[in-house]
Amino acid sequence: MQIPGVLEARLRLQLEGEYDEFAEACSRPPRTSYRVNTLKASIDDVTSVFDSEPVPWSHTGFYTEARVGDSIEHFQGLLYVQESASMLAAEVLDPVECDCVLDLTAAPGSKTTQMAAMMKNEGCIVANELDSQRLKTLRFNLNRMGVVNTVVSNVDGARFRSKMRFDRVLLDAPCSNLGQLRENPEALKSWSEGNVRRCAGVQRKLMDVAASFLKKDGVLVYSTCTFSPEENEAVVDHAIRKHGLSCEGIGGEFKSRNGLLEWKGKRYGPEVENSVRIYPHENDTGGFFAAKLRR
Ligand code: SAM
Repeated sequence: MQIPGVLEARLRLQLEGEYDEFAEACSRPPRTSYRVNTLKASIDDVTSVFDSEPVPWSHTGFYTEARVGDSIEHFQGLLYVQESASMLAAEVLDPVECDCVLDLTAAPGSKTTQMAAMMKNEGCIVANELDSQRLKTLRFNLNRMGVVNTVVSNVDGARFRSKMRFDRVLLDAPCSNLGQLRENPEALKSWSEGNVRRCAGVQRKLMDVAASFLKKDGVLVYSTCTFSPEENEAVVDHAIRKHGLSCEGIGGEFKSRNGLLEWKGKRYGPEVENSVRIYPHENDTGGFFAAKLRR
């Protein structure tokens, strides 16, 4: 895999001497991981069929070498194939049965279905998605997983309107996708500094809406599967400054780095450090970024 020079320079700045380990991990295919859908099956039901090893930061996540995506259990909705680092966002948001949850950019529904299972199919999730083709996949996955506490909406998240306010909001934002290099090396082809700026503009607009729908004391998780500070820490800093949210620490059984406090001459507020950056070589996963914000 040939990482373009400009991108390599950016990553070397972030990785402080671990660039070679990072590049080596990105050149290997990812481990297969899945979540047991506890709406339809117990952990034992599924792990007794597939030789599995727990994902340490997810209650229902497992690694396996089996081809679970081709299995009858997958077809029946007993499991959902999901990249292990991405399981973190819903775990951090931690929705419970009585919550009203907004999932502003939801397709194909990995995290919506994960949250529905955590909520035991109670409470309410509004799952919004702009792309109507991807919305079909979201609906399909909700049906396959037996989710009944979720309504879907098909608008630009930046124009999402509702009289409701939400206890928890997930903004798993569209991004430059560099964290998915292991499964999709093609992400390198569309990478450019211009695209990073474009994504950052969309992410800020989505953040403005996500924050505006959060109830007092409510929790908003902002996540991406990329490494650009413009798409990560800068958006969190914007949420803190413009919407008065606070950024809380995220703990768990994974190796991570704190959010950056400075990038290319821009300084971010001290709370931004509480967000987490996960690089592929640290836990043998995809790349991920998450921040836990509270009103
Ligand atoms: N949360 C999803 C999951 O776990 O399966 C993945 C979400 S993906 C990172 C981002 C999604 O945002 C894509 O499906 C994309 O089509 C959608 N999207 C992009 N721009 C959007 C917008 N302005 N409003 C709503 N959704 C948008």
